[in-house]
Amino acid sequence: MLLDFSLKEIQQLALQKGFPSFRGKQIFDAIMNGKNINQSNLPKDIKEQIQEEYPNFEIVKKLVSKDGTIKYALRMKDGQVVESVLMSHDYGKTLCVSSQVGCAMGCKFCASSLNGLVRNLTAGEILQQVVIVNKDLGGMIKKRAITNIVLMGMGEPLDNYENVTKFLKLVCDEDGFNFSERNITLSTCGIVPKIYQLADDGFSVTLTISLHATSDDKRKQTMPIANAYSIKQIIDACKYYFKKTGRRISFEYALIAGQNDSNQDAEKLAGLVKGLNCHINIIPLNDVKERGLKGTEIRKAYAFVEKLNSLGVTATKRRSMGEDIAGACGQLRQSVIKEEA
Ligand code: SAH
Repeated sequence: MLLDFSLKEIQQLALQKGFPSFRGKQIFDAIMNGKNINQSNLPKDIKEQIQEEYPNFEIVKKLVSKDGTIKYALRMKDGQVVESVLMSHDYGKTLCVSSQVGCAMGCKFCASSLNGLVRNLTAGEILQQVVIVNKDLGGMIKKRAITNIVLMGMGEPLDNYENVTKFLKLVCDEDGFNFSERNITLSTCGIVPKIYQLADDGFSVTLTISLHATSDDKRKQTMPIANAYSIKQIIDACKYYFKKTGRRISFEYALIAGQNDSNQDAEKLAGLVKGLNCHINIIPLNDVKERGLKGTEIRKAYAFVEKLNSLGVTATKRRSMGEDIAGACGQLRQSVIKEEA
């Protein structure tokens, strides 16, 4: 698919096919500006030759929340539907992209895991989400409407390492959207060897760890990945990542009523991250009915944050956005989109 290629690669491809040299840039611009092949002003013979490789830009569904958050359901070329969520802040617009259709990680509280992994997204398909939403917001390739990207949609990005890192290179390419890695956040449940690899491969995106528990035993109850890697191993990997990149680490901690939200949990959590330059995002769990898990009430969540702060830990309560359109954390799920579409 042509979205998997940089400008230079598309120019080479165009030359190989015998097109005049300026056509490569023309094809690249059309794609990055989210034009479907019939909306581009490419000549008919070129259209015919690249049609199969040309992406298909289709918004299946667009839901706008009361708070302005927008959830997009986007159709990929093979018919799979992928969800992306746009959040508006005073500092800009953040697009939350999916890295897989479904997810293999099996976290008990997460709707993306309900049907397991369907397939990985390619680098181009992750980029496609940026292209479509940017266009929908009136942006162009050189006049981006999106300021930040978070890999926090469906899927585990480090379980799709090759495609995700290729996506990072493409989206940061100065011929393309020219994002800075500073404005990109990768969220992971903690696939430890891949955290080391990310640092060793020279990436410096903001790393966010979905922690959600303060002991390995407790973590195993909701997150199967905890059977493979301990919290200690994750924290060590974070220290390594920080040393290599200088980027402050973030943690996501969803408060589950009666399970991980006690005073002792706050104390344990503070102990775990001691000495690490980090920030903790606290969010009451969004209820997942299928699993009977409930979020901690709001007052208690604020008390948890205050407790952490009093222990010298930087923590804030994350605002939940797009709850009314099922676009909030952990609510993205392929099956519903299929029914709704
Ligand atoms: N697989 C990656 C990327 C998913 S990001 C990861 O685990 O980090 C989605 C974020 O939402 C993760 O932090 C995830 O743990 C969190 N999440 C999942 N279900 C949730 C729920 N019901 N309520 C609040 N957060 C949830």
